[in-house]
Amino acid sequence: MNFVNFLIGVTSFCLLLLLTHSASLSGGDEVRAPAPQCPTDGSCQLPTCHCASTTPPGGLFGPNVPQIVYLTFDDAVTIVNHPFYASALFNRKNPNGASISATFFITHEYSNYSLVHDLYRKGHEIALHSITHTTTTQYWANMNESVWNAEIIQQGEQASHFARFDRNLIRGMRAPFLQTGGNTMYRALSQGGLTWECSRPTYTYRKPGLWPYTNDFRSIQDCQIAPCPDEAFPGFWTVPMLDFIGDDGFPCAMVDECTPVPKTQQDTFSLLLRNFNDLYTTNRAPMGVFTHSAWLIGPVDRPEFAERMAGYLQFLDHLGSLPDVYMVSVSQALEWVKNPTGVADIDTFQPWAPKPEATNNCVFPRNCRYDNSTWERFMSACVPCPLNYPWVYNNLGVN
Ligand SMILES: [Zn+2]
Repeated sequence: MNFVNFLIGVTSFCLLLLLTHSASLSGGDEVRAPAPQCPTDGSCQLPTCHCASTTPPGGLFGPNVPQIVYLTFDDAVTIVNHPFYASALFNRKNPNGASISATFFITHEYSNYSLVHDLYRKGHEIALHSITHTTTTQYWANMNESVWNAEIIQQGEQASHFARFDRNLIRGMRAPFLQTGGNTMYRALSQGGLTWECSRPTYTYRKPGLWPYTNDFRSIQDCQIAPCPDEAFPGFWTVPMLDFIGDDGFPCAMVDECTPVPKTQQDTFSLLLRNFNDLYTTNRAPMGVFTHSAWLIGPVDRPEFAERMAGYLQFLDHLGSLPDVYMVSVSQALEWVKNPTGVADIDTFQPWAPKPEATNNCVFPRNCRYDNSTWERFMSACVPCPLNYPWVYNNLGVN
């Protein structure tokens, strides 16, 4: 063997090692090609396909683009935060007369399903945020497809069963700690019947903001929390989280991560207003006010919580005074992106039209209790208590 042949031999061996390594990195799944670049020939067309872009869809521009705001809350719905949701959200209207709709990324543990039913019935969106909400991010980053299915897709069956509403109303999710599993997670979600996810912050495209896009083609979005998907998932939407900028100038994907944490009503209001205006005065990409109720509800001996809540409510009042701002759920926002309708015609846009309240199918909630020597859980459900506490791989508690 001469030296050149030797080098070729070594190179092929290394290449083989590299290929074997990348196959094992993705949990033994087949290695797929990255999605192709978005075409400019018009072959990616709404309502099914939309390239990642800061241009408003549908050729709309300027003040004819309604400013969408999605209010979202993560984690368990409980007797502590539900009264706040009811008082802050239930009596607000959009300019077309319909009630506003928020999106709740619920976790199973500690959630009170009769209160989840109440949020659903009042027109809010219930989305998924996992059964276990395990606190190690490596768990989510490296999880295989079947565990994503157990944590998220099976949570869809669980939430709709115990809170007694149509499972088809569950469309989207947010990964705990915004730690997605990249391609593996996207594969599990799209094959499991979800149509969107909202876990990926963007700093590069915060102003003007990135619009939601489908994953038919390669995204332009920056990858802040790896792994990020790069394969094609036709028709599956990414709802980017446009970073806020805190008063110290640093970015924050969730409002409650912004620093310094505002301690007065005025500081809270101006933080929200400044970030709102970054979009309202530019390309009007949807603004997400992504938070946890724990940012607004706290011990009475710490007045900063009441101050922040007052600032948050003042911000919602301000939005309610603007004729072209719509507080809608993430799924309602995506319906708009699929069928862009200008402010001038917005009263004809059916997905945002006023709707009658759904029937109360949780008139006699059951209070279920589970314990062993070290542990106790309560669960309020709209259906009879299952034999065991529902958990991952036993999502309905029947085993
Ligand atoms: Zn969470």
